[in-house]
Amino acid sequence: MIELAILNFKCKKCRKTFDFNVGKITFGNKLSFENRIFCIKCGLVEIDDLELTELGQTQVTELYFESIK
Ligand SMILES: [Zn+2]
Repeated sequence: MIELAILNFKCKKCRKTFDFNVGKITFGNKLSFENRIFCIKCGLVEIDDLELTELGQTQVTELYFESIK
């Protein structure tokens, strides 16, 4: 279980990218995060309004391999 994960997101609404500590990540068919995510511009955003940047995807991949060690 990953206790703390800072991922790089892009907000689909304002196109800004930002780092956010999502807390625990649950790996499944769809990723789910412990914390609600706040865009630096829009405030609270739904997961569907976000996408992982290339960096964020790399971070998730690394955390996934870390979690299955
Ligand atoms: Zn935004």
